[in-house]
Amino acid sequence: MHKYSVKSKSHHRLLISGVDLWNASGVQKAVDIAIEDGIVRRIGKDLDLNAHLDFVVLRADGYVLMPSGVDAQVHLRVPGQEQKETATSGLWAAVSGGVGALLTMPNTKPVLDNIETLALAKQVISGPEAETGVRVLFSAAMTMGQRGHEVVDFLALAKAGIFAFTDDGVGVSDDKIMLQVLKGAAPTGLPVLQHAEVPGHGGVLAGGPVQVAIGSVAYPVWAEVDMVQRDLDLLKQVPTARYHVLHVSAAGTLSLIAAAKKSGLHVTCEASPHHLFFTSEEIVPDNSAFKMNPPIRSASDRSQLQSALASGACDFMATDHAPHESAVKTNNFKTSAFGTTGLETSLRVMIDLWQKGAITATRLVDAWSKAPAAFLGISATHGEISEGRPMSGVLCDVTAKQTAVREDDFAGLSRNSCFIGTKLPGIVLATILGQKVHCLRGFNFDSKKG
Ligand SMILES: [Zn+2]
Repeated sequence: MHKYSVKSKSHHRLLISGVDLWNASGVQKAVDIAIEDGIVRRIGKDLDLNAHLDFVVLRADGYVLMPSGVDAQVHLRVPGQEQKETATSGLWAAVSGGVGALLTMPNTKPVLDNIETLALAKQVISGPEAETGVRVLFSAAMTMGQRGHEVVDFLALAKAGIFAFTDDGVGVSDDKIMLQVLKGAAPTGLPVLQHAEVPGHGGVLAGGPVQVAIGSVAYPVWAEVDMVQRDLDLLKQVPTARYHVLHVSAAGTLSLIAAAKKSGLHVTCEASPHHLFFTSEEIVPDNSAFKMNPPIRSASDRSQLQSALASGACDFMATDHAPHESAVKTNNFKTSAFGTTGLETSLRVMIDLWQKGAITATRLVDAWSKAPAAFLGISATHGEISEGRPMSGVLCDVTAKQTAVREDDFAGLSRNSCFIGTKLPGIVLATILGQKVHCLRGFNFDSKKG
């Protein structure tokens, strides 16, 4: 039942019956949803089936339909790193996890810092995008080669269709360059995404038993907090710029962001599933899937991240999906590459928070879909299921009991998920993107809960 499998079909007319519809604006119990040519035509109780005789009926009694995920931080590795993830495997990983749109990071080969590389990347992605229905948005580097010395041509990249600027993987440490980034990006209206890390700290894991066991220095909180503080000071000089902190790991960062928001600056941030789920006490020895940047921190950091996500102080969830081949993701914490995959487990982590009462259903949808869609400027097509809008949704069983995540659950190419072996609730049953219906894990049109 849980093993990854997919059966895809296109349907001109589709009726999803008896489903609980979760939107950020509210929950509707047991409704029918008529979809025609990929557009939601009617939502209502007991829609007249005689009026929908030529619709294919998907019986979904007892299940939840919500907007598909919008993941604002994914390393799709396109172009040039097909040993980690191909455009095809990455987008099927998105389908498998219920994600309908994603922003991919520019730390590729070559680095996406110019419009020629953007054109190449778009060409690579266009086939898999059409095949799956997943929408791919590109970000560009903010400095040439992500070297932090010379800023990119912000206006040209914006004009060519970039959605954000980031040097993710490294922070921009030179103050003058960071100021130039904010000034250069501001007129484009696009956000600047900072991987906040002051270089040179030498840590790979935050303080905890495994960090002690491997004999490395602890990855300090100040490496993140100090860069965010520096950036917020610079942002005051460019108040028209949009500044976003990627994958917040520390409670101290949340306090800075809360104060900056209060002062009226355009500041946002995100939290990643692994930071929301694990603590540094729980890291499994010899499993370097737990080595990511920034690291998993204390129970207090985790609980404050969860509260911030629930309240909206942290704007949304994003996975930092970072696939790696086993040759660089060895089980030596000191030498292994940083990163865990996340696309295929993120909704289950959100469902876990909801089952534990840490987040409401409406805020779950907001943090999972609506808020990141608004952040990326794709609210017209993503983030909400309502009449007259394009269909982009995920059908899931939110009450499904916990089962351990297994390697063969994954459609993605790489296996460096820190969730393998961990019990998570929920099952993603189908991802519906426009006319494309991807039935997952053995779910089919005649399935009924029971
Ligand atoms: Zn990063």
